Amino acid sequence: MDIQVGQIIQTKKPHPCSGDRWKVLRIGMDFKLQCLTCGREVMVPRKKAEKSIKQIIE
Ligand SMILES: [Zn+2]
Repeated sequence: MDIQVGQIIQTKKPHPCSGDRWKVLRIGMDFKLQCLTCGREVMVPRKKAEKSIKQIIE
């Protein structure tokens, strides 16, 4: 899967705030994602992030 910074992704598992769309802020060993619903930022290990992605929105 080819993810790039600035893309909006949808995850299989939603955030506790119920949002499932995220903006990709940084890519490396970990992905830094910002929840588009509540604005919170999270760091997710790359493997886990790639598995949890349902689709790339844009
Ligand atoms: Zn959220």
